[in-house]
Amino acid sequence: MASVGFIGLGNMGAPMMRNLLKAGHAVKAFDLSEPARKAATDAGANAVSSAREAAMGVDVVVTMLPAGAHVKSVMLGDDGLFAAAKPGTLFIDSSTIDVATARLVGEDAAKSGHAFVDAPVSGGVGGAEAGTLTFMVGGPDAAFERAKPFLEIMGKTIVHAGGPGNGQAAKICNNMLLGISMIGTCEAFALAEKLGLDHQKLFDIASKSSGQNWSMTTYCPVPGPVPTSPANRDYKAGFAAAMMLKDLKLAVEAAQVAGATIPLGAEAAQLYAMMVNGGDAGLDFSGIIHMLRGKA
Ligand code: NAD
Repeated sequence: MASVGFIGLGNMGAPMMRNLLKAGHAVKAFDLSEPARKAATDAGANAVSSAREAAMGVDVVVTMLPAGAHVKSVMLGDDGLFAAAKPGTLFIDSSTIDVATARLVGEDAAKSGHAFVDAPVSGGVGGAEAGTLTFMVGGPDAAFERAKPFLEIMGKTIVHAGGPGNGQAAKICNNMLLGISMIGTCEAFALAEKLGLDHQKLFDIASKSSGQNWSMTTYCPVPGPVPTSPANRDYKAGFAAAMMLKDLKLAVEAAQVAGATIPLGAEAAQLYAMMVNGGDAGLDFSGIIHMLRGKA
C-alpha cells in the first residue's frame, strides 16, 4: 500500500480521499478548513497542519483545489510542494484549472524531478462518493501509468487525453459543449411551450430524432420526461450554474490564448454569467430555462 498526501478536502476531495483510505492506502490529509481536517481524521486519515507536511515523504500527492491560482501557489516556489516532496513523487492534480497553468505546473514538476498529471474529473459529488468519476488525464505516458491504479480507486473511466494540460483541455471542451447543448435544449422546450407543443411529445420525438443529445435524454431541463433530472426537484444542483460558468470562462480564456473561434461558447458564458449574477449561482445549470423563458 502506498502513502498518499491529499490536499483539498472539499465537496469532491473529501469523498475521493475516503475512497483511497477504504482501498487501504495511508493518507496524510490537509485543507485550510479546520472542520474538513476534523472530518478527515474521523474518516481515518492523518490530518496534518500544512500542505507541505502532507507532501513530505509520501509516494503520491493528490490535489483537489478550487482553481489554477490555488494550485500554482501550493505547488510552486521555495515553500511549495515540489520543493518539499521527496524526488520522484507522483503528483495528481484533479482540480479543474486553466490549461496554461496546468502546463506550467507540469513543467515545473519535471524540473523538480517529479512526475505530474493533470487529471480533472466529471461525475460530480455523487461520482466522487461512489468512486465512479471519469478522469481526463494529461501528462507523459510513464506518469499516466503510475497514476492509473490510484485513479481507478476513485473513478470508473480513466482516459489518457495526451500530453501535459490535455486533461484540462478535454474537460473544458466537453463542458463547453454541455453548456451550449443545455441552452439549446432549453430553447427548444421554451419554444415548444409557446407553440403549444407538449413537453413529453417534444421529448418523445426529439430524443429519437436528430436533435437528440445528453442534455435532453439524461438531464432533461423540464420536469417529467426524465424523472431523475434536477428539473424534477426544483432544479436543486446537480451541477451548479456557478460551476458551469467557471468552466465556460476557462474555455473562453483557452480559446483566446489558442486563437480558436468559439462564438457559441462565448455566448453560453455570457448567458450563464447573467444567470449567476441574477442570483441563481447555486441552482442547477439546467435551471437556465427560467431565464430563457423570461428573455423571450
Ligand atoms: P470545494 O470548494 O468544496 O473544495 C475546495 C477545497 O479546497 C476547500 O475545502 C478549501 O478549503 C480547500 N482549499 C483551498 N485552498 C487551499 C489551500 N491552499 N490548501 C489547502 N486547501 C485549500 O470545491 P469542490 O466542489 O470540491 O471542487 C474542487 C475542484 O473540483 C474544483 O476545481 C471544481 O471545479 C472541480 N469539480 C467540482 C465538481 C463538483 O460537482 N463539485 C465536479 C467536477 C469538478
